Amino acid sequence: MNVYPILDRLEKVRQVKPDAWVACCPAHEDRSPSLAIADKGDRVLMHCYGGCTFDEIRAALGMQSHEFFADGKAPKSAAPGVSLRALNTALVRELVLCWVLAADRSKGRQIAPADLARERIARQRIVKAWEVQP
Ligand SMILES: [Zn+2]
Repeated sequence: MNVYPILDRLEKVRQVKPDAWVACCPAHEDRSPSLAIADKGDRVLMHCYGGCTFDEIRAALGMQSHEFFADGKAPKSAAPGVSLRALNTALVRELVLCWVLAADRSKGRQIAPADLARERIARQRIVKAWEVQP
């Protein structure tokens, strides 16, 4: 299981064990990392100590359930769909990011390469959010 595409989407990622990381939870306002991520070989597990569900975190990352499994198939027990609240939280986060960068541009500010890369991800997530059936 390649955990790195998941870690790439998270902020303040810190490795705590060879197969475990902590990061800021994307599903709630998180200033210090409260999301635990573990690579179990055949799947990636995530736990938010702030109380977010897996589905809320997954939706905030703009990812599908099957992307957390090595064989690309989520077990049948995985909850289908996404809560509307999780989808809204994820959408607002990405829209605000795009809005802030648009405001910077309108003031003639230079946009850092890392911010441009993050903006591309935000745009992809916004498009993807429309495809998700809550
Ligand atoms: Zn959380």
